[in-house]
Amino acid sequence: MSEPLLHAEPNRALPSDVVLRRIEGPGPRYTSYPTADRFSESFDSGRLEAVLEAHRSASEAGAAAPLSIYVHIPFCESLCYYCACNKIITRHHDRATPYLDALDVEIALVVDRLGAMRPVSQLHFGGGSPTFLNDDEIARLMGSLRRSFRFTPDAELSIEVDPRTVTPSRMAALRAQGFNRVSFGVQDFDDEVQRAVHRVQSFESVRGLIQVARELGFGSINADLIYGLPKQTPESFERTIAQMVDLRPDRIALYAYAHLPERFKPQRRIAQEDLPVANERVSMLGMAMAGFLESGYEYIGMDHFALPQDSLAIAKREGKLQRNFQGYSTQPDCDLIGLGVSAIGRIRNSYYQNAKTLPEYHEALQRGRLPVVRGVDVDRDDLVRRDLIMALMCHGRIEFADVGRRHGLDVRQVFKNELERLAPFVADGFVELEEDAVRVTPMGWYVVRAVAMVFDRHLGEGASRERFSKVV
Ligand code: SF4
Repeated sequence: MSEPLLHAEPNRALPSDVVLRRIEGPGPRYTSYPTADRFSESFDSGRLEAVLEAHRSASEAGAAAPLSIYVHIPFCESLCYYCACNKIITRHHDRATPYLDALDVEIALVVDRLGAMRPVSQLHFGGGSPTFLNDDEIARLMGSLRRSFRFTPDAELSIEVDPRTVTPSRMAALRAQGFNRVSFGVQDFDDEVQRAVHRVQSFESVRGLIQVARELGFGSINADLIYGLPKQTPESFERTIAQMVDLRPDRIALYAYAHLPERFKPQRRIAQEDLPVANERVSMLGMAMAGFLESGYEYIGMDHFALPQDSLAIAKREGKLQRNFQGYSTQPDCDLIGLGVSAIGRIRNSYYQNAKTLPEYHEALQRGRLPVVRGVDVDRDDLVRRDLIMALMCHGRIEFADVGRRHGLDVRQVFKNELERLAPFVADGFVELEEDAVRVTPMGWYVVRAVAMVFDRHLGEGASRERFSKVV
């Protein structure tokens, strides 16, 4: 796709909250398609072994791209009340050693099927809090990975950092281990909001760490913000936005808080009456959007902004943006190995997920089995729909001829019903439906998930939408 992308950023003027509320509702974030709730327990360790062996054959035939690896570190020292992650709250740091032992066993089982020293171009440590591990433990884990996989010279090695758990010298230790990308969990700088979500960290400490990360040569620095948190007001969030712009991280991720206390127990500590109401959420989103765009950030897609020289912004301009379990990515269609409790992977046309609890995870490994508990083999229909949904999420448009050529079908004819169901979005000015393409308008970027949901066959098959966060 070489022509300049149309409608690459959302409108700075927000759609009316009446229109937004009409389509507001839960929806998937489409870090995969089908979404993880469609994975089935019939996908077991035997199936994953076969899939890994198929990757091995493709790799030996020179037909596999370098791998991506995700490692899940589930531990956190204290609970953030908004948390929806798979984590274990503990102050007992001795829990790290048996977990690292288990990861070693899992790596060995994976390599046994995949073959040793497969090239890796992307590694991400997520959690939980990866920096719950001390410097020696991170060095141990990196040593295991480097003895089992071959990292390409330009590999992206990224880690999520809880600013409360690191010092400048710990940042230097991460850099020495080869990490070249770092993501700081910030969420909000306001004291009252921080107390309401039980995550207190000063602006000064985050500023200091970002400064140190820059001096150490981390190639890309990301910071996460969340709007819709308890005690947040448009005025308080405006101050947080200004402070964030001042810090100038290369990337900013702006997430909407999804209050689902029935599903996520920590959220029961958040009082409904402390949450901003719908029009306040909309105005916070609008302020953030305007604040970042006017400060020189480019809009990448749902939730994400980057400075023009950042690789994500370059990939967006060149039409090479991808989407995977970590969000937007610059890497071409890599197979992803998920390691650790609850980690999700994608190999060829299969997705899989590891056991979600530590006892289950350890037990599988003690039996010498890969700890996978569910997954799905993607069928041809899913592959086409994944292409359509990712085209919307990454580029804001579907070119019928491109998709048709890739899959050998006539998009207009095969997806006639779906295209008809876009009519309300067209009427509201969110989508343009033309002879050759579907295009998301600048206003439509605010509701791009809802547009993508039109092409999701599984939602129509009775998958519960209630388990997903709000689309706006
Ligand atoms: S939000 Fe992050 S740091 Fe906080 S409890 Fe959840 S996983 Fe841990």
